[in-house]
Amino acid sequence: MSASPFLPFALPDIGDDEIAEVIDTLKSGWLTTGPKTKRFEAEFREFLGDQGLHCLAVNSATAGLHLALEALGIGPGDEVITTTHTFTATAEVVRYLGGDVVLVDVDPTTLCIDVRAVEAAITPRTKAVMPVHYAGLAADMQALLQVAKKHGLKVVEDAAHALPTTSCGQLIGTLGSDVTVFSFYANKTITTGEGGMVVTRDADLAKRIAVMRLHGISRDAFDRFTSKVPSWYYEIVAPGFKYNLTDIAASLGLHQLKKSHAFQQRRAAIAAIYNAAFTHLPVLTPPVPGCGGTQPGDTHAWHLYVLRLKDECTLSRDTVIERLFALGIGCSVHYIPLHLQPYWRDHYQLTPEQFPHSHQAYERMLSLPLYSKMSDEDVQRVVDAVRGVLT
Ligand SMILES: *Cc1c(COP(=O)(O)O)cnc(C)c1O
Repeated sequence: MSASPFLPFALPDIGDDEIAEVIDTLKSGWLTTGPKTKRFEAEFREFLGDQGLHCLAVNSATAGLHLALEALGIGPGDEVITTTHTFTATAEVVRYLGGDVVLVDVDPTTLCIDVRAVEAAITPRTKAVMPVHYAGLAADMQALLQVAKKHGLKVVEDAAHALPTTSCGQLIGTLGSDVTVFSFYANKTITTGEGGMVVTRDADLAKRIAVMRLHGISRDAFDRFTSKVPSWYYEIVAPGFKYNLTDIAASLGLHQLKKSHAFQQRRAAIAAIYNAAFTHLPVLTPPVPGCGGTQPGDTHAWHLYVLRLKDECTLSRDTVIERLFALGIGCSVHYIPLHLQPYWRDHYQLTPEQFPHSHQAYERMLSLPLYSKMSDEDVQRVVDAVRGVLT
């Protein structure tokens, strides 16, 4: 048997359309934020299917989350509740603004934020809550939005995994939250290399985010007196950031967005093959729509395929990953919970006992390759390797 090449954990799915669009942009003479970014924003709103939304392209989801909290006025003395079972970006933006992060545990099945834990963590200082649609399955948004409303909290959805995801039939991005932020990082469900999209219904938040994403430059003067103000004139109304998306990146996004549903269908098909192949192994396959506040017909974006080793599996998670690597299969872990990361652990004196569900999941979980570029042979290789290691 000839050795198969290493199967990476993730690969982007870039086609000729994206490449042609980038070349067109490069030849156009306009590289940074311009007509293609504007079109990407407009088409993103069309994709979400709601004319009441403002869509603002940014150069990362991290930037978008930062802008969202800044626009909501989060600052020193404020607390923002989020899940320990996430990437550090979700939480770090709170610290950029001098606010405090309050980490809570997750639902043991979906590994999305536990809404009861959110409610228990609310103090007079709590200003906002940030759910994460872990792996591409929606958090229990109905319950969370209800709790937020009851306690007067802002909601910022970290939707980095959630394009396209639905919650009770509605696309993430169109719910009743204050702001939703998508990521187009290289390994996400669609990619612009680096990039993100901020979505809000609130015109004032949108205006603040638009100003702060580019140096605090206000275009109001242009808008109001277009004919009178010379083209070189601008006003700085705040010490803003440099978070704008380039037209080069937007060129990728325009075509990735068109393929988003097809990409999702391919990932869902691969997940279904995995689920069927792993039924008799000592593993928990990922939760599916119908769990944790989602409905059976909901869309799972399938950004990640997370296997969890049952107690009866005598191998450690690390050994399983090592053996899969030895068979040429790239794996990962999502995530090393924040309560274990030195900064978060030490800054807030966190212990695993405070987060039993996240912690137990972490110790027994691994993520398998799941992306639209995988061939049927790639999928079969993963199936055979996992079966070989776990039986
Ligand atoms: C990838 C990711 C981010 C950050 O996205 P960037 O676009 O790389 O800034 C934030 N939160 C979660 C849950 C992510 O997976």
